[in-house]
Amino acid sequence: MPRPGYDTPALTLRDVRKGYATGRGGYLSVLKGVSLDLQHGEVVAIVGESGSGKSTLLHLMGTLDKPDAGQVLLNGENVFALPDAQLAAFRNSHIGFVFQFHHLLPEFSALENVAMPALIGGSSKRRACELAQALLGQLALTDRAHHRPAELSGGEQQRVAVARALVNSPDLILADEPTGNLDARTADALHQEIIRLSRSCNQTFVLVTHNPVLAAACDRVLQLDGGELRPVSGTEVIV
Ligand code: ADP
Ligand code: MG
Repeated sequence: MPRPGYDTPALTLRDVRKGYATGRGGYLSVLKGVSLDLQHGEVVAIVGESGSGKSTLLHLMGTLDKPDAGQVLLNGENVFALPDAQLAAFRNSHIGFVFQFHHLLPEFSALENVAMPALIGGSSKRRACELAQALLGQLALTDRAHHRPAELSGGEQQRVAVARALVNSPDLILADEPTGNLDARTADALHQEIIRLSRSCNQTFVLVTHNPVLAAACDRVLQLDGGELRPVSGTEVIV
């Protein structure tokens, strides 16, 4: 469902191409012209074999890397036309990331890790802590708020990472195999949390996953194959 006041897609990719220079002057073409429109509130799964370019695609969507050709528009804004400092501020306020490995800061508590993007975005310490407490509560982590990452289980670490991705109420959340490092039961619980949160917040989610159950719970499933993105039905997912 579109958010009020938004008449443009949350994310548009136009003929995006990306490759990497390899040793001895070679070139590996990874994305060979990917086009896509995501509407506000859509939850989309991206599947594909290992090495097919899923992480490359997510990095471009999240403005962490630039395409060789083509355009990335977020809320209609041609993000790579922005000066670097503005792009960094845009990323902090509009995009949330969850990676396969949590990337939490080891010397900070769960609460501080979640509050960090809000502080960077200019919230007061008090406001950032309130937001972080509320999210930790939603993810059943209230009694872990003062634990450091090393004092948390793998599932708890990833739930903290999800809370951190959501703290600035980003329009777009990008999750790259968020449960790939967890046992099946913990992964299932986290999948349910992610789907529940995405539905309740009406945010746009892109989830890279190998899990057919998670993919089938999304609005759309897109498969990356041969550098191109094509729609597949949830039940077709076999990777
Ligand atoms: P996936 O996430 O689907 O497993 P990636 O996007 O990580 O795939 O990688 C796609 C292809 O690009 C792989 O063959 C990988 O080896 C290559 N690749 C990824 N990043 C780089 C890089 N920085 N330099 C060179 N090759 C890369
Ligand atoms: Mg990957």
